[in-house]
Amino acid sequence: MHFLLPLLILLVAFPKIDRRIAFSLAFLAFIPDFDFFINFTHRFLFHNVFFPVILSSVIYLFTRNIQIFWISLYYLISHIILDLTVGAVALFWPLYERMFEIIIYFDSRLNFVFKINTYPLGVVEEQMTSRPSYFFTQEGIIVIMLFLIMLVIAYKKEIKRFFKR
Ligand SMILES: [Zn+2]
Repeated sequence: MHFLLPLLILLVAFPKIDRRIAFSLAFLAFIPDFDFFINFTHRFLFHNVFFPVILSSVIYLFTRNIQIFWISLYYLISHIILDLTVGAVALFWPLYERMFEIIIYFDSRLNFVFKINTYPLGVVEEQMTSRPSYFFTQEGIIVIMLFLIMLVIAYKKEIKRFFKR
């Protein structure tokens, strides 16, 4: 989800985009979930509006390529938007220490429902102590596997060269 959806949207919306850049940066869409591995910071440390800006700026400093900057920013933000609709995210952490959740659905009378809920950060901590092994949850395994696949694709040439030696 985090990887495929933003990649497809990008390719459809900008057919002339440099596909190599679009594919090799797509792994960035997983990065926010790596806050799971830092004690009790999941869904706030890397899941806020500031993290995408900071990380893509760092990437820009290294690459000096404005297209890479925008695509990185897009992938990182897409993750946070997707998470907002499937659970709570601390959108403005550390300035505002509450989690946001967007709820959109049609109720039984086909009325369009749009709600924004907020929760204290502690909610995530509670959830994580009750099921702390992200490595072994379905979500965790999928994220790690897709990340490894992306790494292999991104460094295909380097890996080939390594084995040829
Ligand atoms: Zn996430």
